[in-house]
Amino acid sequence: MNPACDYSAAYCILNTDSGFKGHGMVVTLLECFYGETFTIGRGNDIVCKAVEAIADRVKGRTLESLTVNWGKTWRYLVSDSQLRWIGPEKGAIHLALAAVVNAVWDLWAKTLGKPVWRIVAEMSPEEFVRCIDFRYITDAITPEEAVNILQEQQAGKAERIKDAEESRAVPAYTTSAGWLGYGEEKMGELLRKALAEGYRHFKMKVGGSVEADRKRLAIAREVIGYDEGNILMVDANQVAYPHLGLQVWSVPEAVEHMHELKEFKPWFIEEPTSPDDVLGHKAIRSALKPLGISVATGEMCQNRVIFKQLLASGAIDICQVDACRMGGINEVLAVLLMAKKFGVPVVPHSGGVGLPEYTQHISIIDYVVVSGKPSVLEYVDHLHEHFYHPAVIKKGYYQTPMEPGYSVEMKEESMKRFGFPGEEGGFWMSQEGRRILQGEKV
Ligand SMILES: [Mg+2]
Repeated sequence: MNPACDYSAAYCILNTDSGFKGHGMVVTLLECFYGETFTIGRGNDIVCKAVEAIADRVKGRTLESLTVNWGKTWRYLVSDSQLRWIGPEKGAIHLALAAVVNAVWDLWAKTLGKPVWRIVAEMSPEEFVRCIDFRYITDAITPEEAVNILQEQQAGKAERIKDAEESRAVPAYTTSAGWLGYGEEKMGELLRKALAEGYRHFKMKVGGSVEADRKRLAIAREVIGYDEGNILMVDANQVAYPHLGLQVWSVPEAVEHMHELKEFKPWFIEEPTSPDDVLGHKAIRSALKPLGISVATGEMCQNRVIFKQLLASGAIDICQVDACRMGGINEVLAVLLMAKKFGVPVVPHSGGVGLPEYTQHISIIDYVVVSGKPSVLEYVDHLHEHFYHPAVIKKGYYQTPMEPGYSVEMKEESMKRFGFPGEEGGFWMSQEGRRILQGEKV
């Protein structure tokens, strides 16, 4: 659980001499205990600084010189020898890379007049593979293998593109009822509402006491039933805040706690322990296998190299790649390929401002081009009003974005009002804004 969160974004706009602009962003502090404000999360300014450092490497370049060999461009962007020292390829500098890389994709898509998913869907296997820097992962997947995988998926691709065009490619799941701060009545109400809206997958946060978690899951099952095709998932968010009454799960506690929750038959437990603990996830996975509970992680997995380990070693059942934690869409493509090779379904992490806007493209690409199988994608219904082309769910399905770009362009009035530190009359100069800035640092 991330207990005291202000949804924030380091936002990057690439200007060009053609009039086109590329918009990319990185989300910081993704989840909320209760309520949320679109504000600065501490550390966001660090990522903004890092964005400037990375963006300097695309300054003065033509768009074509960046996209003609994307894999090479990506490698160039992560190869500043001094900036690598504060990574490499992880942490704030990698989040910043995502903002810049995704902004280039947004810009490229706008010049082509296509949504990002369609650019990738129309690539040949060779073009797709050229987007990827295979450095450090060729022991798990080679470019040749990747081309073969994509080649095999050419069959049926035209039908899957049609599914995407008709918004039948990406079923959504909801976390809306699942936050730990909600009372029993509110939880039940939100679950019933989600059911009526067509959702079939429901995720609940866990990590409180066993009694409290059992109570919450019992309520969830009471509403969604056991035999009606509705799926329950649980998310522990690494349970790392004992001072706030949550538990701390290392491997044994994660296994023990999930034993106590087995009767509620969750599909998976998400982030049961530290995101870096490949061996830990593997141990939890084998301990929970007899209970029929899968293990999911990825929202804080820092790069394709750690995903290689999680996937190739059989440490996870579900791959929750994040659009901003990876170094932009290029690195996500590498993860999709490895997930396909090792037979692990991709359920992108999508619970943050702007994330559903991004990840809908990723899930479509996975379905149409890489895995050929539909999966589900998280949807959190808030803060979409700040985007020109917000993600939309109808009857439980993401409505495929058809506008050119990568869907995260924020409305000018939102930028003006909530930009930090902003001007007189802006949010951060208001009483509410000041109260947040001067409040207790939880
Ligand atoms: Mg999560």
